Amino acid sequence: MLRLDGVTVSFGGVRALDAVDLEVADHETVCVLGPSGSGKSTLLRVVAGLQEPDEGRIRLSGQDQTLVPPHKRGVGLMFQDHQLFPQRDVGGNVAFGLRMRRASRPETAERVAELLSMVGLPGAQRRAVATLSGGEQQRVALARALAPQPDLLMLDEPLGQLDRGLRERLVVELRALFSRLGSTVLAVTHDQGEAFVLADRVVVMNEGRVAQSGTPLEVWQQPASEFVARFLGFDN
Ligand code: ATP
Ligand code: MG
Repeated sequence: MLRLDGVTVSFGGVRALDAVDLEVADHETVCVLGPSGSGKSTLLRVVAGLQEPDEGRIRLSGQDQTLVPPHKRGVGLMFQDHQLFPQRDVGGNVAFGLRMRRASRPETAERVAELLSMVGLPGAQRRAVATLSGGEQQRVALARALAPQPDLLMLDEPLGQLDRGLRERLVVELRALFSRLGSTVLAVTHDQGEAFVLADRVVVMNEGRVAQSGTPLEVWQQPASEFVARFLGFDN
């Protein structure tokens, strides 16, 4: 469904992505791991159309995306720094993507309530964004990204600011939700335990390249290089 061929993105002298080949199959959840600065966020941005590649091709369901504007790509992206709409309340933020899909009002209200319960904020529809803690904002951003059920859901550190207990609960619920909805997901995380629970396949990035791609078991049992072994060993 998603396919990158030789995608390169440079910023001045830095190759944020260096000839990346990557596939995400329909209904697959792929987790991207890698050190800070290895190109994880750039990877998501280039697929979303927020960053133009210098070289290479991006295809979604066989269609070249080069000339397709971001809002027509059928992808949803939850940013690392979540970026909620401060002037809308919590419900308004979550409903945003549903309105674009022209869902009816009762349908929207029901779906918003369901998503807010799932992220542990039941009944928070009328709250102002400014009154939420960082972790609560992150959960609203997650609900907003999930709401329109995009063909490809991309999450950049979706649980990054949450405490351990909440992360552990949410990651299991996300896994169940993705399999129930048949979602196709590309998610960045720095938490290996999270990747292990969530991912059908793990991609480890290093300096803009894919250092290894495989099932969680393959990657943890047979790291492809010293870099991967060291990264998995020391990065907890
Ligand atoms: P982190 O784990 O810290 O979020 P990351 O793997 O998401 O890191 P990216 O944000 O993709 O890393 O950045 C990859 C490289 O590209 C870094 O060296 C970064 O400084 C550089 N970079 C990213 N965006 C820009 C930009 N808009 N302008 C200049 N350099 C950039
Ligand atoms: Mg990043």
